[in-house]
Amino acid sequence: MRKSTDECLLCQANAANKTNSHILPRFISTGFFGAKGAQRRGFAFNGENELSLKPRAVQDSPKENYILCDECEYYFSLLETASAPSLKFWKAKVASGKFKKTNIKSYLKVVEMATPNPVIMRLLVYSMFWRATVSSLEIFQDYVLDPGLTESLRSTLLEFKALTNSDLDANLKARNITMHPYTIITAESYKDETANVLAAINSGNPASLNVDKFGFILFKAEGDISEQVMADFSNAKLNENQIMVVSEHLWEEVMVRRPLEMVAQQARKNLSNPK
Ligand SMILES: [Zn+2]
Repeated sequence: MRKSTDECLLCQANAANKTNSHILPRFISTGFFGAKGAQRRGFAFNGENELSLKPRAVQDSPKENYILCDECEYYFSLLETASAPSLKFWKAKVASGKFKKTNIKSYLKVVEMATPNPVIMRLLVYSMFWRATVSSLEIFQDYVLDPGLTESLRSTLLEFKALTNSDLDANLKARNITMHPYTIITAESYKDETANVLAAINSGNPASLNVDKFGFILFKAEGDISEQVMADFSNAKLNENQIMVVSEHLWEEVMVRRPLEMVAQQARKNLSNPK
């Protein structure tokens, strides 16, 4: 168990005194609990105990004590505040003409986000993968990114750290960000809005995170993107800020069923080879 006197895992300087740090940004990780007022309940999966135990219901997006200092937590909240409207309201922004949506195939559209600054969105995505890998919560226990990538995410995040929006802007102008291509996937509509999952199953290269209505994929380097469709619609270049929007059917297959199958598979493996 970490203590309040332990070093902050991001800055490695201040004491990690912050309690209840969300590992996944709250604004995108709590929708699947259902509407406010309804019973809020979701399931967290980590491939460990799904077959032997009933899946654990979680009442809130996973949070952990003593991983960050107040400052680093506040810095992440600046990134989240700047990015939240673009992810939450991308449809309204397409409708009002702020974001451009292009039809690629019957099952795939691409949305180009005009906001936030692409480096802010990139930092937010880096922060999610970094938080998931440093977390010792049970759902992230087996989620271990390549150590070189973990350190690159940490030092990149720290390089841009700011405690005000104007300092953040100054950092965006003054610094070059280390590039790790990433993809954001969402769906036009959902078969069941409350049946999405929070899952941290694949920490390989690429690594992925399922965060309710969004899937995030992170590649170590551009050369690691093997599929053309991912190469075309990932954010591999500095100014790219796009979301892949897939059909309801494809989302159900790839982002809901497949993670659950992988979890069941992993659980079976863990049952037959207990640690
Ligand atoms: Zn810190």
